[in-house]
Order: sequence, then C-alpha cells, then structure tokens
Amino acid sequence: MKLDILAFGVHPDDVELSCAGTLMIEKKNGKKVGIIDLTEGELGTRGNAETRKLEAANAAKIMNVDIRENLSMADGFFKNDEAHQLKVIAVIRKYQPEIVLCNAPEDRHPDHGRSANLIVDAAFLSGLKKIHTFSNEQQIEVNTVSQKEWRPKYVFNYIQDRYLNPNFVIDISEVFEKKIEAMKAFKTQFFNPESNEPQTYLSSPEFLDSVIYRSKMFGKMIGVKYAEGYISPKMIGIRSFDVLIKENT
Ligand SMILES: [Zn+2]
Repeated sequence: MKLDILAFGVHPDDVELSCAGTLMIEKKNGKKVGIIDLTEGELGTRGNAETRKLEAANAAKIMNVDIRENLSMADGFFKNDEAHQLKVIAVIRKYQPEIVLCNAPEDRHPDHGRSANLIVDAAFLSGLKKIHTFSNEQQIEVNTVSQKEWRPKYVFNYIQDRYLNPNFVIDISEVFEKKIEAMKAFKTQFFNPESNEPQTYLSSPEFLDSVIYRSKMFGKMIGVKYAEGYISPKMIGIRSFDVLIKENT
C-alpha cells in the first residue's frame, strides 16, 4: 500500500503527543497515513512493552490511520548506523510516502534527537538505488529482488516536549478532542487517577495540561484554536497563497 504521509516516533505515544492532529486532518482530506514506532518503549517507568502495544493499537483505531507498525529497535540504545538505517529505508520503500514526519531535532529525551537524525539520514539514503533492501523483516535476500528506491519529498520534524520555534504550524482544531482521546489511550503513560504505578514526568496532570497549552499557543500564532508545529530542514514551496490561513493575528 502506498501512503501519502508516514509518521515515525521512537516511542509509541510520541506521534500522539506531537502530530496525531495533523494525521487525522490529512486522513479527513482523503490522504493515506501511517505510523511507524521504532521501539516498544520497553524502558518506560510505567507499563511495559505488552501494555504499550495494546495502547498503540487502540490509539491507531481512534486516529483511524491506515497502518501502524513497530520496528522493535532497542529503546534507549538504538543507533543511527547502517543496520538501523536499512530497517528504516525498507519501510520507507515499502510505503513510498511523499511526506515523512519524525521526532524533534533535539528534545528532553535523548532518543528523540537521535531518532530524528536516523530518519532524516535514512529518508535520503532510501533514494539511492545502489543501496539494496528487501521486503522481508530480516533484510535477507531470499528469492527476491531489491526494493525500488524511494525518497520522500519532505521530512518534517514535529515539536514535542522542549519548546522549539516552528517553521510552520497546522490547524488541528477540528480534530483536537480526538487527539486527546488518542493520547489517553496510553492509559499507563499519562495521568490516570486509577493507576497505582509510580508518578513520572509524563503521568502528572500538569503534563497533559502542557500538551493542551502548547497546541493552544501554536493555534494562537495563526488565529485558530489548536495547532501542531513543525520544523522543516528544507525550504517549503507552495503553489498558491490560497493554502494560507488568513486570520487576524
Ligand atoms: Zn518519546
């Protein structure tokens, strides 16, 4: 299946926190959208790989995305090296997205910046035809030809925990309630008064509030209620001023 937009997150829930609204808006616009989680988030203080797998599947249903896969890389210890790049290249070639979304270039969790570098590098390398990847998970050449090269046209970093100045923001007001619902599908991770697990940075009620405030702040910048912000390493081209939101700000 070819996708229009493929969002990568290193931990299941990164996408929900940062770009779920955009995926749902694009899905409403008739686009095909998917999510790739790099790790199972097995080092998280609360929950475990099993609970997070279930939560990720529930969130995917709420967001109505076309696919969600997990590359089972090691939480905390994956590297931006050839073996990991080949895994990412294989999924980019499989889904041939026009646009890739990935973690923030730097963030509170060191995995986020490393993941962003891995995705940006792999998205470029994916366009080189002399790099051979195969459609099976082990990347073993068995009676199969190499996948066709594919380079996404844009890779955008979403903004997650640390404040970074966005290059552009997308109005997600229409789907904001659903974004919060998708976040809350991660019952073990975020504020849940019924949980007996240790409190963490993520599980306080203040953390949930901060996600809402951030969306409001990005929304205010363009005169809408809620928005998600992105950084583009590359110059963005538009065909017409018609795509611009024209509100008093
Ligand atoms: Zn994360």
